[in-house]
Amino acid sequence: MPNAMSGSILIQGGRVYDHDGDTDQPPYADVLIEGDRISAVGKPGTLEAGPGARVIDARERMVMPGFVSAHYHSHDVLHRGVFEPEPLDYWLMTATPPSYPPRSLEELRVRTLLGAIDCLRGGITTIQDMATIYPYSEDAVKTVLDAYAEVGIRCIFAMQVVDITGLDTIPFWKECVPAQFHKGVKVTVEPFENVDLPQLLEDVYKAHKDHHPRISWSLGPSTPERCTHGLLEAVADLSRRHGLPVYTHVYENKAIALAARWKLKQYGGSLVNYLAATGVIGPRVSLAHSVWLLESEIDELAKNGTNVVLCPASNMKSKSGVAPVRELVERGVAVAIGTDNCSCSDTQNMFHSMKLFVGLSAVSKLEPGPPYAKDALRAATLGSARTAGKEKQIGALKAGMKADLFLVDLTDPSYLPFNSAARQTVFAECGRAVKLVMVDGRVVVEDGRVTTIDEAALRESLAAVMPQLRKDRARVLEQAAKIYPYILEADRRVWAEDVGTHRYIGRPPSA
Ligand SMILES: [Zn+2]
Repeated sequence: MPNAMSGSILIQGGRVYDHDGDTDQPPYADVLIEGDRISAVGKPGTLEAGPGARVIDARERMVMPGFVSAHYHSHDVLHRGVFEPEPLDYWLMTATPPSYPPRSLEELRVRTLLGAIDCLRGGITTIQDMATIYPYSEDAVKTVLDAYAEVGIRCIFAMQVVDITGLDTIPFWKECVPAQFHKGVKVTVEPFENVDLPQLLEDVYKAHKDHHPRISWSLGPSTPERCTHGLLEAVADLSRRHGLPVYTHVYENKAIALAARWKLKQYGGSLVNYLAATGVIGPRVSLAHSVWLLESEIDELAKNGTNVVLCPASNMKSKSGVAPVRELVERGVAVAIGTDNCSCSDTQNMFHSMKLFVGLSAVSKLEPGPPYAKDALRAATLGSARTAGKEKQIGALKAGMKADLFLVDLTDPSYLPFNSAARQTVFAECGRAVKLVMVDGRVVVEDGRVTTIDEAALRESLAAVMPQLRKDRARVLEQAAKIYPYILEADRRVWAEDVGTHRYIGRPPSA
């Protein structure tokens, strides 16, 4: 009988979810955790807690692998609940850092912690944060990383960058928006001034690569159409030399597809071809959203092993469309799931995202077929882990893997009667049943509360930073309201164009 070391944890008496096992009625098993890893998963009573070990009673609980959100941004956490559904680019203009005066380091700390708590309490143990640090500041990067280290979540961090402005890339903006407003038209991130960007990306990586063992580094060229060929080549080179994953947004909405058709003619009007020409393609690369992919591009991605990160919750609220999930899954593209921004989705809830992932796919084709609930769970764990090459370390409950997991309460109505672990987790549960969360072998949520930081003190800090943010936001919204009619007109023109595919629920104008 294997014995637990002192300081180890034994999770005893629960059902243990296995992607490859019975996903309806997972068998009862015990899980032994030593240090940061699962050392054994065994039949009940076969693993023994040694002296000093903590035993977690998991009767009436199910142990699940922690979720990995493969697309998230920490920069707009404090705008949660501010917006109704708005066109993507208008929302970006009102919610993201380039439109705002520089924020205090305290505000950065607060928003990073609050976003991480939202994740942890819903069973998300790893997030890929594609953070806009704008304007760039070394202290800002350090503040965000320190907050992640403090709260105890695992983070795959990328700094989001571009070297072409939003105004230059979004179809019809220059024509529709009067010149006096051009200065105020900004998107997720804008070019940094007077900076050698490839050099900066390398310097930041080198300065922070060992910041904390739970934080790993990645690269975040925001969107290919806002990055020059030279910048993307530099990103591919950095990725190769340092083994770094690359995250980017591809075809989030129709305007981006149209921009590609018009501006990238030498690449067949395809962002996928453009990325491939720069070397940013393959298993180390992840394309968030991918709503307006063409059929031929889906085949290409299946062939070269590039990841696609589906973010259905934000795609609906930003009026972007419905991604071709069914086609991606059927053709064997590596799929992952992201929860995306707090001001667009508006919560870090993988349960919502998985339900939409399956549901929106279901209404795209009558014939039965995947993704099913168990596929959503796999995409939200192992699939998302694969985007950073971590699928052998996180995303499943196997001996040798990191102890990133959560326990759900099987007496919660979501799980009663207990018909199917996978289907009730994806279709019924909303996060309410998550009771205990562990990252790296450390309990970070217990009885639904984060244990690593003082939540009450964080709420006080939040109250202290909000007055200035509210004041600044009122000014941003007031200015944006003046531009809104012109942005809408640009969107109407985009809606009327043919980009070779249709991803809205509404009919195309010609139908
Ligand atoms: Zn995003």
